[in-house]
Amino acid sequence: MKISEKLKSGEFSISFEFFPPKTPEGEEQLFNTIRNLERLNPTFVSVTYGAGGSTRDRTRKIVLRIHNETNLTVMAHLTCVSHTREELLDILRDYKENGIENILALRGDIPQDKDLRASHDIFCKYAVDLVKLIRNEFGDHFSLGVASYPEGHPESPNLEWEVKYFKLKVEAGADFSITQMFFDNSYYYRFVEICERAGIGVPIIPGIMPITNFKQIKKFASMCGATIPQRLVSKMETVADNREEVEKLGVEFAIRQCEDLISNGVTGLHFYTLNKSKATLEIYESIKGLLKQS
Ligand code: FAD
Repeated sequence: MKISEKLKSGEFSISFEFFPPKTPEGEEQLFNTIRNLERLNPTFVSVTYGAGGSTRDRTRKIVLRIHNETNLTVMAHLTCVSHTREELLDILRDYKENGIENILALRGDIPQDKDLRASHDIFCKYAVDLVKLIRNEFGDHFSLGVASYPEGHPESPNLEWEVKYFKLKVEAGADFSITQMFFDNSYYYRFVEICERAGIGVPIIPGIMPITNFKQIKKFASMCGATIPQRLVSKMETVADNREEVEKLGVEFAIRQCEDLISNGVTGLHFYTLNKSKATLEIYESIKGLLKQS
């Protein structure tokens, strides 16, 4: 089913993001996670796509396995920056033939290597080009999501710029957006307000990253320009070498963050699971009473 239709139902949307594992053991672990999370009846789940097309086959395999072996609505991420037009069309035709109806249309990170950049920067310069390609070639077959950045994408000089180009993706046919992770809700509220003033009317689903490994998330956050509040950094640093304590703090923080978002009227939450279910299940258990009321 199309995610755009599900989002219109008015029910609170819960969704989970996974990445395609490299090994059979990793895939087994992922499917255990999926089985654990499936009973929460999420609106959709999504599977990431490796930079430069590096997980093309693995992403496809996991997307189709979820589609064929579970009752979940699945969305395939697709990055365009390293593919030719024909390659993109092949990937999309294959998804269509296999009954996949949801794509997260992304540009992907520009390869650092100059030669790679020259040979790969072939068809799509920006995600908006992929959105246009999909709408032109496939009409309404796919429900399309795009990325958005409450603190601005690292390449954007300011938020006005960010919103201007986000709006182009929506005008080209995106149905909804999922945000980059953020840890300070005030960035999200400010971003949504600017988007609304700019006339962007699609759902902007907040992306929640429960911190289970502080060093890893600190690195991710600095790469994507997400601010970790100093009070959380200080607390995390006192327990940084104790995995259980880090996870406990991370889950508590994410619960407070979700409670605040729900009380401020968000209609969905997207969890970056890193293929594990424990933290997400604990957060869900804690907030589920609020979801029923919203
Ligand atoms: P775009 O929307 O094209 O924006 C990129 C930058 O270019 C922004 O600064 C934008 O303001 C600017 N821009 C856009 N159009 C123009 C224009 N016409 N002129 C000038 N500037 C312009 N990466 C992966 O590799 N695989 C994944 O599976 C993946 N999943 C993600 C999921 C989510 C929810 C999010 C938030 C990000 C994800 N990413 C993923 C990361 C993403 O690929 C990178 O952030 C990438 O650098 C930008 O992709 P985009 O689709 O946001 O690009």
